[in-house]
Amino acid sequence: MKARAYATPGPTAPLGPFALERREPGPADVVIDILYCGICHSDIHQARDEWGGSRYPMVPGHEIVGRVARTGAAVTRFKPGDLAGVGCFVDSCRTCDSCREGLEQYCERHMVATYNGTEHDGTPTFGGYSSAIVVDENYVLAIPDGAPLDRTAPLLCAGITTYSPLRHWEVGPGSRVGILGLGGLGHVGVRIAAALGAEVTVLSTSPEKEADARRLGAHRFLLTSDQEQVRQARASLDFILDTVSAPHDLQPYLRLLARDGAMVQVGAPPEPAAVAAFALISGRKTLAGSSIGGIRETQEMLDFCAEHGITADVEVIPMHRVNEAYDRTVAGDVHYRFVIDMATL
Ligand code: NAP
Ligand code: ZN
Ligand code: ZN
Repeated sequence: MKARAYATPGPTAPLGPFALERREPGPADVVIDILYCGICHSDIHQARDEWGGSRYPMVPGHEIVGRVARTGAAVTRFKPGDLAGVGCFVDSCRTCDSCREGLEQYCERHMVATYNGTEHDGTPTFGGYSSAIVVDENYVLAIPDGAPLDRTAPLLCAGITTYSPLRHWEVGPGSRVGILGLGGLGHVGVRIAAALGAEVTVLSTSPEKEADARRLGAHRFLLTSDQEQVRQARASLDFILDTVSAPHDLQPYLRLLARDGAMVQVGAPPEPAAVAAFALISGRKTLAGSSIGGIRETQEMLDFCAEHGITADVEVIPMHRVNEAYDRTVAGDVHYRFVIDMATL
């Protein structure tokens, strides 16, 4: 079936109108008319080939909310008219240990990324900056009733990417949590960590974000360029979620951890960071990483956010302003997620 989209033909070109062919829905497939798609910094990293290995033409977008238009004969969980979400992957091998445990994002054989990936048969995948998408129902999320759709779209990546490590490291009442970087991921992470009962500190390079940090639920705001503030906060946190998209020195933040604390990388700058062994040895600290979340946990996150009234702060834009939105995101001029209104495509 035909779909309209915005694509980029290469790493230095802007995105522009693009016509694409989606597969005809099979028995297990859901056809979703896309209503909103968030702009994740990962879209920019990949569109601009900052991680390497990008495939073109590329239709980015993995924070998708839409309405079910059609379903295959074997689909049981969705019917036409239902609201549906799609996140960062649209299939996986379904047989490896990770898939069987509901951790499809760590599929050991082939996780099919929503875009810039390939289906099992090698067909390139195209993402959510598009009028419609066809996805197996097992990889489609249910959007809770009454959720504001534009503000919910970013949860499909920013929400689950912050929720999953907060849960895995058992953040809850009494946890002293630092959220490093107040961007798309970070601002949702603050809300989720606060809702989990943690004491939340925002660690930011942007002094003007302090009021927003507090409004989002942070108890403290630490300006990372202020040496004195950083010194005073030594060993004051149990857990740091690092959402920063650009290269940065990890060691000043490791010093903020108390004994047995953990710092988890979700931000994915293209360049490696250097870490001295003693930055971890002293205080028995853990440096770890985390990737999005599985389908089951993504549904749990959507339901948790609905229950706690958690959504993203968004600036809704028409499709043709996507290139400007990319530049503004890189420049840090986003409060706190751009979301494309697909009616403008
Ligand atoms: P974003 O909206 O651009 O936010 C990134 C934030 O990082 C900025 O708001 C800024 O916060 C901080 N920052 C930027 N440049 C910095 C620098 N040079 N030094 C220190 N801080 C800096 O990006 P996002 O969409 O939240 O994505 C963040 C990162 O997570 C990206 O690398 C993305 O690819 C990655 N990601 C990973 C996963 C995963 O599964 N692990 C999933 C989604 C995204 P302040 O102004 O507060 O300092
Ligand atoms: Zn993302
Ligand atoms: Zn698998």
